[in-house]
Amino acid sequence: MGDGHVRRVLAVLLTVLFVSGACVAGSETKRTATGFYFDTVVTLTAYTDDPELLNEALEECARYEGLLSKTLPESDVWRINHAGGQPVTVSDETAEVLELAQMVSRLSGGAFDATVAPAMALWDFTGDDPKVPDPAELAEAAQKVDYTKLILAGNAVTLPEGMQIDLGGVAKGWIADKIAELLRQRGVTSGLLNFGGNVVTIGEKPDGAGAWRVGIQNPEEPRGDHLVALYAKDLAVVTSGTYERGFDLDGVRYHHILDPDTGMPVQNGLTGVTVVGPDSGLDDGLSTALFVLGLEEGIRLVDSMEGVEALFITDEGKIMATPGAAALVVS
Ligand code: ADP
Ligand code: MG
Repeated sequence: MGDGHVRRVLAVLLTVLFVSGACVAGSETKRTATGFYFDTVVTLTAYTDDPELLNEALEECARYEGLLSKTLPESDVWRINHAGGQPVTVSDETAEVLELAQMVSRLSGGAFDATVAPAMALWDFTGDDPKVPDPAELAEAAQKVDYTKLILAGNAVTLPEGMQIDLGGVAKGWIADKIAELLRQRGVTSGLLNFGGNVVTIGEKPDGAGAWRVGIQNPEEPRGDHLVALYAKDLAVVTSGTYERGFDLDGVRYHHILDPDTGMPVQNGLTGVTVVGPDSGLDDGLSTALFVLGLEEGIRLVDSMEGVEALFITDEGKIMATPGAAALVVS
């Protein structure tokens, strides 16, 4: 073997090493972008050399909001809610979110119900002068809540007149998945996307620093006070809690997760439910569903599902975790 050959082999080896070195997340620039969508601060962090990528991702968030918002006129959801019982043709994306919502409703026996909108409309959880709605009006609104009456046929959606939908219980999780998919397709191997308590991680921290750690908000304390943290590699960590939107009146916490049977905020001793799994849309729907189901039934549902783990927080500050979730707790 001559010297020339050895040099060629070395040159090839060095090239390979150089290229793979460039793929290591640590060699890429950490970038962060923040926006406000779905009434929530969205913070995207990713290691990428593309200075425009995160702005593109935020533009996608705006596009999804334009389809799924209940309040933006001409969104798909707005058109469904104002169709007076007539079929409405929606985008593929909206049809996919509706399929997801209906699946979570079936899984949870209706604890999750996207047709909860007429009851939601009677509550103002964030206004200056919060009130408990009139019981008769709430009862009447609750009568209109029934996901089995929402008919999906491909991209055609039909909802009986008087009913309305609200995708707030799944939309953020579903969108977070889509944004993660976009970033992965564009070469991102390390990132963390936070949609207001709805977190998706891409890979691990750069430079071999291990899995991302996602803090879980203590429902009883101001924002940023974490009860525990979970290791999350390519996982979504989604929390539903009483602290997100709500008010206190005469010693009672009224919050935005409603019992579809009564239209009243769920009061079952839970203050938060966190779901961990690879599919953030499903995890988001489930976190709302498990909150409504309560501790016992909630644990039964997650135990019956492959790849989904949960952590329940009670109003006494107790934390109950499924074994898979407990294994992720940062000690
Ligand atoms: P967050 O929006 O804080 O992430 P959730 O995922 O738990 O919290 O979603 C709560 C939202 O879901 C409410 O603001 C409302 O729009 C909707 N919602 C409330 N109760 C239900 C329910 N029982 N089933 C489905 N959606 C619900
Ligand atoms: Mg949810």
